Amino acid sequence: RRAEARAASVGTTVSVRGRRIRVAANVGSLAEARAAVDAGADGVGLLRTELLYVDRPELPGEEEQVAELAEIFAALGDRPVVVRTLDAGGDKLLPALHLDPWRHGPLGERGLRHGLRHPTVLRTQLRAIARAATDCRGEVSVMAPMVTVAAEARAFRDLVGSVVRELAECDVPHRPPARVGVMIEVPAAALTAEEIGSEVDFVSVGSNDLAQYVMAADRTNDAVGELYQPDHPALWRLYETLVTGARRAGCEVAVCGELAASPDAAVRLVDLGVDELSMAPTAIPDVKAALREAFRS
Ligand code: PEP
Ligand code: MG
Repeated sequence: RRAEARAASVGTTVSVRGRRIRVAANVGSLAEARAAVDAGADGVGLLRTELLYVDRPELPGEEEQVAELAEIFAALGDRPVVVRTLDAGGDKLLPALHLDPWRHGPLGERGLRHGLRHPTVLRTQLRAIARAATDCRGEVSVMAPMVTVAAEARAFRDLVGSVVRELAECDVPHRPPARVGVMIEVPAAALTAEEIGSEVDFVSVGSNDLAQYVMAADRTNDAVGELYQPDHPALWRLYETLVTGARRAGCEVAVCGELAASPDAAVRLVDLGVDELSMAPTAIPDVKAALREAFRS
């Protein structure tokens, strides 16, 4: 039965109790964007932008970023895409930024923490995203990684606003992001999802990092691999708390960590009230089939 549903699912959307659930893809390159379309993705819930910055001694310029992003947007046709701003630091030590494993480590200045301290890098990226969006048929949204407190979410939203104003004042062709969101991957952010959600249009749960911080088990350290469990009951209690909080703030909730790729977890997350699941393209058909089977939609 699941095999039949799997075959029927490519390209069609899933509805659960009258709500449309987006089953989207995580991509980090043009090839992956094409794979997402082939797998029947309803959009891209996480466009990782780090690939543009790895293995090179200098930062990519604004024009290069516009060109790369425009190509990915074009491959997605009219599907919506969420572009995550640079997640530097943690397990992603990018040579051009001269990051230090301790200062910029998993508990250090990574993600948006780095972005707000080095606003030129973040502003350039936000300019490139808004400029590349001009020729795009689908909605382009932006989200920031590694947010801990509501003030950071507000600072990110203000920065997006300031970049858009600057482009408008200089008559640079652009399209403002359709939605501004942040990732929930820190326990404090999960516990205060209502406060954070009231600053933005949506939140997206990064279960990979959230599991690492909740279980105090480095996601890259095999010695504690057994403790690294994104589906531990402690995490499920937190997912429930954060979905409830974010929805109370009137905020959409997505999950873009690896957990969303597990059909059983996907069903449970949608049952909690999650609106969008984003995963590796190869997982999409099975997750769509599992949702259809579980909710008979
Ligand atoms: C996550 O942390 O769950 C996530 C999706 O981001 P990344 O794996 O890129 O850190
Ligand atoms: Mg993460």
